[in-house]
Amino acid sequence: MTAQDLAGPTDRSRLLVATRSGHKLRELRELLGPLRTQLISLDDAGIAGDAIEDGWTFEANAAKKARFFAVLSGLPTLADDSGLEVEALNGGPGVRTRRYAGENATDEDNNAKLLRELAGLRPERRTARYRCALALALPEATGPRGGIPVRVSHGTLTGRIAREPQGDGGFGYDPIFEPASEPVGGRTLGLWTAEAKNRISHRGQASRRMRAILVKLGF
Ligand code: IMP
Repeated sequence: MTAQDLAGPTDRSRLLVATRSGHKLRELRELLGPLRTQLISLDDAGIAGDAIEDGWTFEANAAKKARFFAVLSGLPTLADDSGLEVEALNGGPGVRTRRYAGENATDEDNNAKLLRELAGLRPERRTARYRCALALALPEATGPRGGIPVRVSHGTLTGRIAREPQGDGGFGYDPIFEPASEPVGGRTLGLWTAEAKNRISHRGQASRRMRAILVKLGF
């Protein structure tokens, strides 16, 4: 698919960011801006409802969310699906990262469960990576099988799970995630500034790639 296939008469003045996470929205605003378009959230647009995230991959879930909200809103829509893959858990929690400790788990619940699961493992057995897939859907475009085509970008940040939480910057698993550039027992992302995290993060990489696509499409 080329950028041209996605180009069309869609209003380029607004881009819906399909998330209810204030943290993700803030990071995406920092990472994608400045653009000619205004980034609005589901809440800004007054959109209720949620896509069912039952895909097996981050990419499938991001594409599903982007299509779902593009159809619902009639707006060009960008969706983020991201999570953590831990080697000692055979790549888990993966697409279940947000719900790792249960359907309504808090970040603290999730972090505590992961620390329990990895208790006693040496640093070299605690390797993990954050992954992010961003998907863009333009509601007026039609793909080869009649559905709305999406453009996807990816990013990965490798590191390890710390022995205990440190810092309260970022969100989610950041207080227990040590990027690979840190020595064992070094600073978790909870202690990094937002700017430093954005420079290396999975979402930072995916956003820089997506930004290039958006600019080409006139956003
Ligand atoms: P989802 O994409 O809404 O399914 O949820 C992704 C989950 O992955 C979030 O709720 C966080 O727990 C975690 N996550 C994704 N990106 C980050 C990040 O940059 N820092 C910390 N946790 C993250």
